[in-house]
Amino acid sequence: MPNKNNVTESLFQSPSKYIQGPNAIKNAGKYLAPLGKKAILISDDLVHKLAGVSLIEALVASDFDVQRVAFNGEASAQEIARIGAIGQQHGSQFVIALGGGKTIDTAKAVADRIGVDVAVLPTTASTDAPCSALSVIYTPNGEFERYSFFNKNPTIVLVDTTTVAKAPARFLASGMGDALATNVEARRVGSSPNFGGGLPTQVSSAICAKCEEILFTYGAQAYEACKANVVTPALEAVVEANTLHSGLGFESGGLAAAHAIHDGMTAIHELHNLLHGEKVAFGIVCQLILDKAPTAELDRYIAFMLSVDLPVTFELLGIPNVKEKELRQVAALACAPEETIWTLDIVISPEIVYNAIVGADAASRDYIRRSGWKKPTA
Ligand SMILES: [Zn+2]
Repeated sequence: MPNKNNVTESLFQSPSKYIQGPNAIKNAGKYLAPLGKKAILISDDLVHKLAGVSLIEALVASDFDVQRVAFNGEASAQEIARIGAIGQQHGSQFVIALGGGKTIDTAKAVADRIGVDVAVLPTTASTDAPCSALSVIYTPNGEFERYSFFNKNPTIVLVDTTTVAKAPARFLASGMGDALATNVEARRVGSSPNFGGGLPTQVSSAICAKCEEILFTYGAQAYEACKANVVTPALEAVVEANTLHSGLGFESGGLAAAHAIHDGMTAIHELHNLLHGEKVAFGIVCQLILDKAPTAELDRYIAFMLSVDLPVTFELLGIPNVKEKELRQVAALACAPEETIWTLDIVISPEIVYNAIVGADAASRDYIRRSGWKKPTA
């Protein structure tokens, strides 16, 4: 049931300020000053070495009092409570997230818990987490648990594209998988309330379409620039698509089957080393199958995803011998009552989703056979 409460208002929400550019971290003091001078900074140890030290230097030079907390790697309720207590003790006026999707989701939840603003500084363009007012909460073992919703979006999102270009290109590609789902999902759920509880606006539809256009136009070029660790106009465009367009688009548009199937896939242990957008990429093919996408359209998406090494078959996902039982479990979880798959205005059941999952693998394998695509050797 896409709109069981008969919502009639449309609604669009976003961060107050989005800043993106080469070496933008150097100017963090200027952009974060409106939030206060006392902050906790959440980052994992690797990110801390790569970008945290220079961020702290920049902030201390602007008279900030920053306490850094090492993130333990999982956006779990336990981790949020632990860091929240540290933030409260420190008397933090705001929270800074420095890192990838899970660090960001944790920081947003911590800020909500202690009632302060959050500034998000993504170090990769790997997910659409930075701009939204929600977090995905996982169990301490990394299985999807639930979505958590907050009253406010992050106040500031600041993306340093020099840092993003230095991260492994796989992260950028994963972000493209997540971003490519934005339009595929949102265009199917226009009569369903979005994550803000209202109907999608024209502007969110335009953002979703632009997001997809950028990926098809510049995705492969940006992927190569990232492999060479350089910031080019194509890379800037794709970072914006992955972070701003995808974030605004999914939140004020809506999610559907691609993300629901992703959530189900988190139950397969062998997929735990895959990134969010890599699983979403496979979910996109499943969603297109459910949408009755013509073969030419399906081919276009599959070809793009293969061009940036996103996995669209069981084999490319690293589960060539996946069992029917496991796939049926993925389908059942994708159809859980709170899942986003129910925003679709089509008949959905675990059996239908299971068939779409197997059909997606088959369609992608067929494309690979017809096109002669070969997996690049590392
Ligand atoms: Zn996503």
